[in-house]
Order: sequence, then C-alpha cells, then structure tokens
Amino acid sequence: MPGVSETVRYTYRLRPGRQAVEALLSEWGRCRWLWNEAVHQQKTRRKPTFCKLSKLLTEARARNAWLREGSQVAQQQTLRTYAAALDHSFKVKGRGQPKKKRAKDTLPSLEYTTRGFRIKDGRLCLPGKVTVAVLWSRQLPSEPTSVRVYQDNLGHWYASFVVKRTAVVPGETSGTSIGVDWGVKTTATTTDADFDLPYLGHRKRCAAERAKAQRKMARRRRPKGHAPSKSYLTAKRQAARVEKKAARQNTHDARQWAGQVVAVHHLIAVEDFKPKFLAKSRMARKSADAAIGACKRELIYRGIRAGREVVLVPPAYTTMTCSECDTRTKHRLGLGIRTFECAACGYTACRDRNAARTILATAERNRASADDVRHAIASLRDGGSDAVRAGNPPDLSVGSR
Ligand SMILES: [Zn+2]
Repeated sequence: MPGVSETVRYTYRLRPGRQAVEALLSEWGRCRWLWNEAVHQQKTRRKPTFCKLSKLLTEARARNAWLREGSQVAQQQTLRTYAAALDHSFKVKGRGQPKKKRAKDTLPSLEYTTRGFRIKDGRLCLPGKVTVAVLWSRQLPSEPTSVRVYQDNLGHWYASFVVKRTAVVPGETSGTSIGVDWGVKTTATTTDADFDLPYLGHRKRCAAERAKAQRKMARRRRPKGHAPSKSYLTAKRQAARVEKKAARQNTHDARQWAGQVVAVHHLIAVEDFKPKFLAKSRMARKSADAAIGACKRELIYRGIRAGREVVLVPPAYTTMTCSECDTRTKHRLGLGIRTFECAACGYTACRDRNAARTILATAERNRASADDVRHAIASLRDGGSDAVRAGNPPDLSVGSR
C-alpha cells in the first residue's frame, strides 16, 4: 500500500549549552512539582481529570510567580501525560497508577507542542529564549507536531520529534513462510538456516568492564543518608555507559535481522517466548544477554508494519513434537540433548530446528481460522493453550494430513 502515511518518532542528540541545561532542569523541576501535585490529588480521592487539572494549573500559575516563569505548554503537557497515565492504569492490564517522581531517581523529560517550540536555523527553540543545537543525523521527513526533550542516565540530552512520513513497504515477497524458535545457544533458530541469528554475546563481552565499574561504585558508596560523592557518580556513569553500549548493539542486531526476515517472508510464525519464564532458571543471565525480548518485539513490530502475517505460537510442546509426523514424545527433552529423534517415524533434526518447523506447522494449521493478524495474536494470547491443544493432538493431525 504505497502512499499511506504513518506517524513515527525521529530522535536526535542535543548539544545544549550550560545555560540551556540549567533552563531545562529548572523547567523539569516545575513540571515535576505539578506531576506530584496531581498524584496528591488522586491520593486525596479527588479524581484528577485533565479538565480539573488544567483549572488547577491556571490557579497555581496565578498564585505562584515561580511557576509562571515556566512554559505553560510544557506544564500542560505534563498534566496531559499524567491524565493519560492515570487513564491507562484503569484500562491497561498490569499498569499501575502514576507515582510521585522523585528528583533523585527520575530523569528529566519535557514535552512541547507546536505552540511551544520551533526549529530555526537548525536549532531547537524552546520557551524562555532557550535555544539548543541539534545533531541532525538524518533529515526530518515532515514538520514535527510535537517534541519530547529528555535526558538519559548518561546525562545525554535528546529530542524526539513526532512526524508523519509515507510508510515504507518492503517489496513483494516470494510467498515463503518462516518459523522462529528462541534459544540460548542460538538466539533465533528458524526453519531456514540462512536466517538464523547466532548468539552474539554483547553483554558478556563487556561483563568484566562493567564489573570493574560496579566494584568501584561499591568502594565509593557513602552510607545511607549522605549525598553520593562525585567519584561515585563517575563510576556509576561508567557502568551505565558500558551497559548502554551493549544494549544498543543488541537493538541494532535485532533490527538488522528482523528487517532481513520481514523483507522475504509473508508468514512469520514466532514462538511466543516469555522472558519471565526463563528468568527463573539458570539460563536467565544468558537469555537477558541475548535480548530475546528485544528481537521478538522488533520482529513483530516490523512484520505488522510491513503488512506481513505475524502469528504468535505458544511455546508449549514445540520441542517435544516431531515436525514431520506430529507425534509428541512422551518425555520432555533435557536441555543437554541437542538432537531431536522421533520414535514414531525416525526423523532426526537439530532440536531447535525441529521446534521452529513445528511452530511454523502450528501457525499454518491455525491460519484458516485466523484471518486478521491482530485478531490472531489476541486470540493466541487469550486462549493460547487451547490453540495448542486443538492443533497438536497427534492422532487428529495425522488424520488431517
Ligand atoms: Zn516423527
């Protein structure tokens, strides 16, 4: 579908000067105060809708000169974000109520709409005569409708613009499908060996460096109730830098890989891997390292965006089922056993490859009933175990083939 526009974020690094940083931080202080006021309103059982909060803002600005010094747009957007967060806490499962933002453990984040910012001579102009240099690493596809200015845990500032662009659709596929099984030894094993994503171990590679920084932090930590020393904060930033580098390498690899997979395949059957499931086992560290969650998220996001058929398959029994004849082995395969051997038909394959094939077969079988991608994903999520039970009984499937 060429010509369809999509709303996306384009993020750029900022290089604010000392005065700009000061202005941004004090702006953040005012917005943080407002957010905490709104949380207080909720605690005292006055339901803070955005309308009520706006009235509160008007009154507070009339009363307090220090609040009037700040940008009204940024303050309004803070309350809007708060109202949305509160709304989500009622509607989205597992989402908690918005909490107080404490100065020591929240990072600055400010939002401006078109009324509050503009781009002039390549600089981002914010209220209060604050101008910030932007590193334009790529061109903005259109006029931005809003911007979020934020600082990360390394102290770097970024601007994330909301823009519209024409949707990029990868070319037509050859009509092949792919099944993806997540693992520790190989991050993603697919039905086609060419698309396997090996374990790259970015976090493992820098583990020693990170441990060194963390030991330094431990030595320099002051007792509770004392402000952290400068050298402690330096060590903390070093640890965060090492961690962030590995995380970025993981994201980059996940994107590259997902792009390649999505470009060629029209049906993508993904094992519905739950990182929490592995987090309890001793594989936890390695699975966190492999960033399976990031790979899965990226693959689903890119697949849906490109209009591919993405089907999530519950992981139950996928390693135990023969992809050739659908017979399920009687016992669970130990982690040490790397080859799958079918007792019924004698089929042997790499354990993960067999699982990927089973995942694809399950997805193809359930395809007829699942016409819409989102519907399919929702139904698999809700009745995941049912889908497997309906699809996998050996006698039924053998008969249908
Ligand atoms: Zn078999």
